[in-house]
Amino acid sequence: MATQGFTTTIVHGDKAFGTEHGAVHKPIHTSVQYGFDKVEDLIGVFQGTLKGGFNYARQGTPTTAALETKVTKMEDGLGSICFATGMGAITAIFLTLLRAGDHLVASQFVFGNTNSIFGTLRGLGIEVTTVDATDVANVAAAVQPNTRMVFVETIANPGTQIPDMAAIGALCKTQGLVYVVDNTITSPVLFKPKAVDASLVVNSLTKTIGGHGTAMGGAVTDTGLFDWNGYPNIFEAYRKGDARQWGLQQIRKKGLRDMGASLMSEHAHNISVGAETAALRVAYSSATALELARFLEAHPKVVKVHYPMLESHPQHAFAKQFFSAGSWLLSFELADVDACLAFINRLQIPVKATGLADTRTLIIPVAPTIFWEAGAEVRAKMGIADGLIRLSVGLEESADLLADFAQALAS
Ligand SMILES: *Cc1c(COP(=O)(O)O)cnc(C)c1O
Repeated sequence: MATQGFTTTIVHGDKAFGTEHGAVHKPIHTSVQYGFDKVEDLIGVFQGTLKGGFNYARQGTPTTAALETKVTKMEDGLGSICFATGMGAITAIFLTLLRAGDHLVASQFVFGNTNSIFGTLRGLGIEVTTVDATDVANVAAAVQPNTRMVFVETIANPGTQIPDMAAIGALCKTQGLVYVVDNTITSPVLFKPKAVDASLVVNSLTKTIGGHGTAMGGAVTDTGLFDWNGYPNIFEAYRKGDARQWGLQQIRKKGLRDMGASLMSEHAHNISVGAETAALRVAYSSATALELARFLEAHPKVVKVHYPMLESHPQHAFAKQFFSAGSWLLSFELADVDACLAFINRLQIPVKATGLADTRTLIIPVAPTIFWEAGAEVRAKMGIADGLIRLSVGLEESADLLADFAQALAS
């Protein structure tokens, strides 16, 4: 069959991949243990010779496996592994594929907790260099003989910077580097990192894919483009069978099984249901976000709006090249920094909360909250002004949001 659209594929996914009793939705499997009639089959699951078998829920259940298949379809990948959170997925990549003495080059514009993990890696003897990845020249200049991996976010949270992703992909390809792209803000609805030669794609399923703020999850997808045969950090035990699977094998065994950030079936189910409306939600909230971005940019009390689909965005050309819309993430700065908190308090609709891609619009002042622990120096390097306000645009009608912002800015 010809390749189908995102929503067609996802809403018919469970049927296509097989469900029990003809159930239209994949059931929630809560069993921790999986038993067998013949002990040989149990052994087969442990040794990987019985494909598609389960043994213990920390390594996956039929419900998480169904979600993994869906994420793989969404990203047009080779395979995926789900985790309890997006950070679980990111940490598993770093800790299973990098060793002491290795070097990681990362964008300096990343999610706060990802930046925090860089500190943990340095403590383990892994070198990390952060660069302004909006220009590939900065990434190329940072590459050393011991560099193994490059990490970027499609649209940086919260500053909305966009890396020179295609050129970085070409660089990684020629240098044999694992190219990890965190696709959380765009999601596979707006962008597939495979198009820029990413090796591994990260999605926080908590955000767009789940989409309702009621379940956490994360995923790593292997695009199938990286040659694991030539990667020195694959353990002997995982250098077996099809070399294209070696990276995923190691991340599942060392990252999921040993480190244990396992996604529960109940959350996998919630996320699967959310995924069915992801394309509709992202199109709708992106349109609202663009309207709001234009309104704020034209307002005299706003000095700066960071939104990729505004012509004023420094990487607007990348945004148009890569993404089909700008996403729900928008940040802005008021002319009067001291008025920032009172302004947020005057808003009636947005919820004053951290988090992204809920059905409700969420608003947060960035410096005193999610980037407080990072300190002033790191905030400056990441382009986070003291008055930066982050908005995750929800599904409210845009007229309601525009009216609310207008009244809050008026007084
Ligand atoms: C939220 C987020 C994460 C972490 O995801 P959790 O599911 O909250 O652990 C990682 N990367 C980006 C860009 C995010 O926005």
